[in-house]
Amino acid sequence: MSEKPEHFIIDGKRLDGRSVDELRPIKIEVGTLGRADGSCYLEWGNNKVLAAVYGPRELHPRHRQNMTRSVVQFRYNMASFSVDERIRPGPSRRSIEISKVSREAFEPVVFTKFYPKTAIDVFVEVLQAGAGTRTAGINAASLALADAGIPMRGLVSACAVGKVDGELVIDLMKEEDNYGDADVPVAMTADGQITLLQMDGHLTIDEFHEALKLAKTGCDRMYELQRQALIEKYGKESMIDTEDDGGAPDGDIDE
Ligand code: UDP
Repeated sequence: MSEKPEHFIIDGKRLDGRSVDELRPIKIEVGTLGRADGSCYLEWGNNKVLAAVYGPRELHPRHRQNMTRSVVQFRYNMASFSVDERIRPGPSRRSIEISKVSREAFEPVVFTKFYPKTAIDVFVEVLQAGAGTRTAGINAASLALADAGIPMRGLVSACAVGKVDGELVIDLMKEEDNYGDADVPVAMTADGQITLLQMDGHLTIDEFHEALKLAKTGCDRMYELQRQALIEKYGKESMIDTEDDGGAPDGDIDE
């Protein structure tokens, strides 16, 4: 592991040359996998993640079926070669936690009531990790769900905010994630309804409110790139008209 740097911000620039509110470079491809119902490959800084969606399909074992809605299942997995120090294959406390919070980031936006007794399976494979893999996975999963044609209230976009050298920064890189004072991954819909919020470290109440504003800036930028990636694959005319929700239920996502 790299050593803790003496300073994270020098002359207004972070260790990788970014300003405090700048995202790392992002590359997105929708529909990468032929066998999945929906898929997405996303690079974000040093992160390389692949998301695949299967379903809605009959849920087995049947006793886990819900008669009134589809069950969203999410598996986040880090390849053993994705980090500097090889990680043991298979589930870990960390991957189980990330799978859970990622599933919960989508449950409020997916119209699960359209597909009783089924499962919507989302898989995220981290091929290369470089801080912020849960947010990268959520962004990729959001596009894979859209690619699979799963009806949703909208895309979910995610971005982390943190604090280093007493300043709030968006989209933490490895050193900032490992040695910074706070790490706050956030996921939200385009209208700013938060579906994931975690916090590691300490922020004052004022800093926390400021951090949420910054997270919204990051998520807005991510949303625009996600939209572009869908337009690239499907063309503008086939994009969902955001004014007409096709008779979808109204209201807040927690209704
Ligand atoms: N990491 C690692 N080995 C592990 C878990 C994580 O090297 O077993 C690295 C990886 O680069 C990851 C970063 O630590 O992106 C931060 O991990 P964290 O648990 O904060 O989740 P993330 O920021 O990836 O969502």
